Amino acid sequence: MTDVDVEELSPGEYVSLPRAAEYGDMAWAGWCCPSCHEPLLLLRAVHDVDYDGVVSPNVSCPEQGCDFAGRMLLGDWVPEPRGHA
Ligand SMILES: [Zn+2]
Repeated sequence: MTDVDVEELSPGEYVSLPRAAEYGDMAWAGWCCPSCHEPLLLLRAVHDVDYDGVVSPNVSCPEQGCDFAGRMLLGDWVPEPRGHA
């Protein structure tokens, strides 16, 4: 699944992005805001994902006028091998 299209997610959906996917080198996942329905990226520079798929810090929607914020859990999360970077 290297041709994931973040733009086609339904509100509240997300898709984990492997490194090889488009945006995968800069984002853990693509998600669609359940409030404003904007396609968004869960940026590696901002967030971390623990072994169980729990995202920290909590996500918040960057769109103007949208105040969605909450805890995000990547249910299908497959941890990337750590070390050997
Ligand atoms: Zn939003």
